[in-house]
Amino acid sequence: MSGHAALAPSARYRWGNCPGSLHEIAKVPPPTTSAAAQEGTDAHDVAAGFLRRFRDDPNRTQRVLTEAEPREMFDYLMFVAQFCESGHEPLLVEHPLRALTKYRSDIWGTGDAVVQPAESIDLAPQPWSNGADRIHYPKGTRHVIDLKWGQGIQVEAWDHDAGTPNLQLDTYGLAAMLEEIPGVAQPGYIAMHIFQPRGFSELGAARSSPPIPVVDMVTEHLPALLTQAGAVDATAPGEGLNPGPWCRKTFCPAQGTCPAYREKVTGYSGSPFTSVAVGTVEQDFLAWAKGEETTSYTQDEVADLLDKADLVLAWAKGVVSWAKAVKEFALNEASAGRPPTGYGIEQGMGIRKWDKESPLASIVRATGLKKAQCMDAKLKSPTQLEKAVNDDEKWAKITKKFVVRELTKPKLVKTKGGPAPSPVFESVAPTDLDAQGTLLS
Ligand code: SF4
Repeated sequence: MSGHAALAPSARYRWGNCPGSLHEIAKVPPPTTSAAAQEGTDAHDVAAGFLRRFRDDPNRTQRVLTEAEPREMFDYLMFVAQFCESGHEPLLVEHPLRALTKYRSDIWGTGDAVVQPAESIDLAPQPWSNGADRIHYPKGTRHVIDLKWGQGIQVEAWDHDAGTPNLQLDTYGLAAMLEEIPGVAQPGYIAMHIFQPRGFSELGAARSSPPIPVVDMVTEHLPALLTQAGAVDATAPGEGLNPGPWCRKTFCPAQGTCPAYREKVTGYSGSPFTSVAVGTVEQDFLAWAKGEETTSYTQDEVADLLDKADLVLAWAKGVVSWAKAVKEFALNEASAGRPPTGYGIEQGMGIRKWDKESPLASIVRATGLKKAQCMDAKLKSPTQLEKAVNDDEKWAKITKKFVVRELTKPKLVKTKGGPAPSPVFESVAPTDLDAQGTLLS
């Protein structure tokens, strides 16, 4: 068994919500690997190497890391290490989780780290934990840890409003639950964790689910997975397309060609740009704002326009993201020898950069310039340094002495109690998009 599973856990957020996506994706050529995706693959390889050395080290110390490793790798290793405190727990690293293939041959994946601690364990609080100081995971909990190296999209382990796990982790959790681990008893609970050291989150790098009883996994989560997979089987080509946040968040390769996504994001089912019209209220308001009209507006009306302005910005971001997906698709087509009519590929010229890694000494010698004339030394930002210092006490002293916070331009913020915004375009309601132009549902 090699390659990728047709119903890969990593894509379940997409295929579980958009059963037609498999047919739609099959129409487009496979995307070429991006630099970011390659960086993620490389980081996983490096992290797996550390974890294996850590697992196989009789003392299980952090010496498997060298000074040169990025801080994020150290943090990941420390996060996983806390589940291995007895020193002899089997730790599965980059392990193929295939136990679900007894139900569906097309659902399997690779677990970054799976471990079942010998004892109970307490972890840092989570937003779903109702103010508890630490989260208690009982003895017999099997933990599934997923390393996310990306920093663009923050991934949560647990939707604390819905009380459900992230669908990718849920699938890994089910597969890990069914996995036979020699010398380890069947688990009583499953817990899932995301470790995303480079993505900003007020919750920190680690986000976790509560311990989920295995009985719930078997009676609720497994049937839900199989129902979603069954819906994919039952969907004919061109049907079952359901645009939502999963289009962008899972980087659906069909975004550039999918009619349902285009219609939802642009608000138009025909040619997307022929019927864009700004309502007369907006035109009046613009004229009034420019001093061309003396019409006065109530505060409620201005608030409504502000809401619309935010929606238009979100709508524009959604359209830009859709347009980028179209361009990427067209470039892939051209690269595969099928250029769109009237288009061809031209090699772009990148910015100049130094050919060798450290040309400084040679340049200083050859030009007669001083070192300081060749280099810009720049202090890192307070946010970057705070992370590097990683010592609250030391940092408080530096903050007191050297850090100032300049006031920025005042901005309007939304307060409670305003009027409900009205739709700006007939088919795009104020609640359809977030500020980044990602579909909310
Ligand atoms: S772009 Fe969205 S709606 Fe279209 S196939 Fe992909 S996930 Fe489904």
